[in-house]
Amino acid sequence: MSALEIKPKEEWSLSLDKPWIISGPCSAESEEQVMETAKEIANVQKPTLLRAGIWKPRTRPNSFEGVGVGGLEWLVNAGREIGTPVTTEVANAQHVEACLKAGVDVLWLGARTTVNPFSVQEIADALKGVDIPVLVKNPLNPDLNLWLGALERINQAGITELGAIHRGFSPFEKTIYRNIPQWEFPIELKLMCPEIPIICDPSHIAGNTELLPFIAQKAMDLDLDGLMIESHVQPSVALSDAKQQVTPKQLWKIVRGLVLRQAEVDAKELKTKLAELRERIDRIDENIIQFLADRMKVAIEIGSYKKKNDVTILQVNRWDEIVKQRKYFGKMLGLSEEFMDRLLQIVHKESIKQQTTVMNNVEQE
Ligand code: PEP
Ligand code: MN
Repeated sequence: MSALEIKPKEEWSLSLDKPWIISGPCSAESEEQVMETAKEIANVQKPTLLRAGIWKPRTRPNSFEGVGVGGLEWLVNAGREIGTPVTTEVANAQHVEACLKAGVDVLWLGARTTVNPFSVQEIADALKGVDIPVLVKNPLNPDLNLWLGALERINQAGITELGAIHRGFSPFEKTIYRNIPQWEFPIELKLMCPEIPIICDPSHIAGNTELLPFIAQKAMDLDLDGLMIESHVQPSVALSDAKQQVTPKQLWKIVRGLVLRQAEVDAKELKTKLAELRERIDRIDENIIQFLADRMKVAIEIGSYKKKNDVTILQVNRWDEIVKQRKYFGKMLGLSEEFMDRLLQIVHKESIKQQTTVMNNVEQE
């Protein structure tokens, strides 16, 4: 159990009907863009919170780093116009001061801030004696204690309207996700601290718009409290995260498409256990697919190498050796010989097919 003291959700200053929908642009770009996005979102339904990034902690320099303090007024005004509280990311004490002065209703700490206890402590110190809800994104790296530590620092400054945002973890290699969800982290946080609201940020997990609905649904199936989805009046010209932002219309299409399931199994513990096991299966399948794709890439490389050097695709000795060794590995791990045979054949067949395409493709040279 964690030592967090969180105010029960019913007593928060915000109205928190599940699922909370936090939406708005990745970045505030102009007064009009913030206002138009807010109005289009509210045209369908008022979100729980209106978001916009003012200071953008970009991973690489020379990209758009936010409009800065002047944008706060645009965000606050847009929120007032649609009657919705607003939120933005703070990364240091000056940001906190500026937000409090401008009347921002909820603050969040970004993934690049949560990793740094000095920055988190600086923000916590700036929040002493202030009564404002704060949401803490998971750190860039998969370290539950770092996430928990940031929540504790903010909590110890007296903030009890405290929530967490799950936005996934930075991968080293290219994966299907921009940030790997590793759902075991929000599950574990929930087990440690059942009263903390956890919001999922499918936009930063997906990095594109196609995967958004699946991630949002998964978050709902894990009984998380809400979603932060970036939306922009014209995503294609967005100054940051253009690929993952949806229009306000698309936002509500995704939200309306969600199936909000009642607990399949009544006992909460059983449900969490089941979710944990399913999560492990999902992760393993993702890894299998990733590994198969990696294997195929190497096979293709071998194909073009063989082509350059005039070597035949099939080298029987090598394949016999592979089958023998892999079957032995399989046996050691309790996989039947028949299963290993079938699996290896399917994989090998596909490799040969891919290599043949390379061999026959003159362009590849
Ligand atoms: C954002 O919400 O736009 C953002 C910068 O997110 P993260 O901290 O998750 O990268
Ligand atoms: Mn973003």
